[in-house]
Amino acid sequence: MRAGGTTAAHAARRTGPPADAEHVDVAVVGAGLAGVGLGARLRRAGRTGFALLERADDVGGTWRDNVYPGVACDIPSALYSYSFRPQPAWSRVFAPGAEIHEYVRDVARSEGLAPHLRLGTELTGARWSEDEAAWRLTTSRGPLTARVLVTAVGRLSEPRVPEIPGLGTFPGRVFHSARWDRDLPDGLRVGVVGTGASGVQLVPELARRAASVVVLQRTPPWVLPRGDRAYAPGEERPDRAALAEEADRLFEARMAGSAEEAALRERAEAHLRAQVPDPALRAQLTPDYAVGCKRALFSDDWYPALQQPHVTLEPSAPVAVEGSTLVAASGARYEVDVLVLATGFETTRPPFAHLVAGRGGRTLAEHWADGMTSHASTVVHGFPNLFVLDGPNAGLGHHSALEVIEAQIGYVLGGLDHLDATGVPLEVSAAAEAAYTREVDERAAGTVWLRGGCRSWYVDERSGRLTLLWPGRAAEYRERFGVFDPAPFAPEDVTAAGQPGTRPFW
Ligand code: NAP
Repeated sequence: MRAGGTTAAHAARRTGPPADAEHVDVAVVGAGLAGVGLGARLRRAGRTGFALLERADDVGGTWRDNVYPGVACDIPSALYSYSFRPQPAWSRVFAPGAEIHEYVRDVARSEGLAPHLRLGTELTGARWSEDEAAWRLTTSRGPLTARVLVTAVGRLSEPRVPEIPGLGTFPGRVFHSARWDRDLPDGLRVGVVGTGASGVQLVPELARRAASVVVLQRTPPWVLPRGDRAYAPGEERPDRAALAEEADRLFEARMAGSAEEAALRERAEAHLRAQVPDPALRAQLTPDYAVGCKRALFSDDWYPALQQPHVTLEPSAPVAVEGSTLVAASGARYEVDVLVLATGFETTRPPFAHLVAGRGGRTLAEHWADGMTSHASTVVHGFPNLFVLDGPNAGLGHHSALEVIEAQIGYVLGGLDHLDATGVPLEVSAAAEAAYTREVDERAAGTVWLRGGCRSWYVDERSGRLTLLWPGRAAEYRERFGVFDPAPFAPEDVTAAGQPGTRPFW
């Protein structure tokens, strides 16, 4: 393990790692694609002093948690593996979730992460200790201190359960799409709430097994043709770099009023026309907002599934549950045995933000009271030696999440090298965070995410800011932030920002 800082300035501030808890150099929270990818790259860089904390009993994040029937990648699999560890053998154009989960497990195993993994270990609090220049963590398995804290907890990991009056009295099984009941028998009457990426994937599969399905749709999604198929034995897979470039060009279609946006809309409308001959049903399935404003979905079996005799599309939200009856806003009532909530996740207000307290005891949730902000989508003023993966403006609405994750991993590795060289805790300046936030806001202003006339999980409802997505091409993000730049961490910037609290918290 590389040592922590050794400069005189640093030595004056601390007397070595705290002795009353186990100390690690880097604590990574979350063993999904981001955490496992970072773990692998840390080891490859010769950094072995890290712990990978995971509250569940397995690695895999999204792909461990989402086991609903039909779960699969919704970007081409060829783009869905770490560039440093490509998976050339995906079975399908869009790999099934279980296959991706197995890939993540395989990477964790073969990259030697076992000694670092602490499964069943939930972070319950993290506080920056100014005096010790270290993070003090509390976990469900005891305390820990770390020079550097990296959160890799995912942006789609906390199910959002809607408040529907009477839901608690429903006599049958009720569960969220990310908490699938694996023992669900076939032949039941199922109600599904939600028509996002999860609902659209699971309904066609569910329809094969259920006696009946009613889908409660509050807002129709735009759906594009998918073209999924199994690869033939020995078939050559698409060239990753070429595919990545092609995918990145789709960002242009997210610029409101662009020709690319219009072309994408035409494709989606043509798909709907081709698959849904009934004009009344087609009207119910036609969104009234710009394509891409909410995530554009890919499916060839969603529209056909809705037209099966035992499947009903209810074009309104549930407003009450009365015993085993679902009451829709339209007044329609449906008797069901099971209720599936494909209602999405807590994204704009991530629960982990309440657990992380930086300088002066200020939490990330407090810092983000008007919506998440950062510099480079990864570092936050007032939170020294903290890196946030998959956090503010780190998602992509048009491309593989791994594009940004891998760039962020590169940034973290560079930050650690810098930290070793200087020994001075890394805190981004308030000015840099403000400038980045301004840039994000300016760039977001012209996109369908803000101008498309929809409500989505990409946008913070408090401020109306786009806080979940990077409003640009993935390649640009990678070029600008895939390598660590120490300039925005200038100490004088930090002082000028005048943040409170140099006092230790205990
Ligand atoms: P989502 O996109 O947030 O969709 C949630 C759905 O539930 C929406 O249709 C929403 O309606 C509806 N809803 C929420 N509360 C409701 C309520 N009280 N009454 C009625 N309807 C309600 O969630 P998701 O489908 O789980 O997808 C989330 C993200 O996960 C996706 O955007 C994607 O990035 C990712 N994902 C990826 C894959 C994949 O790669 N294969 C699969 C699944 C998910 P409104 O639109 O009206 O809010």
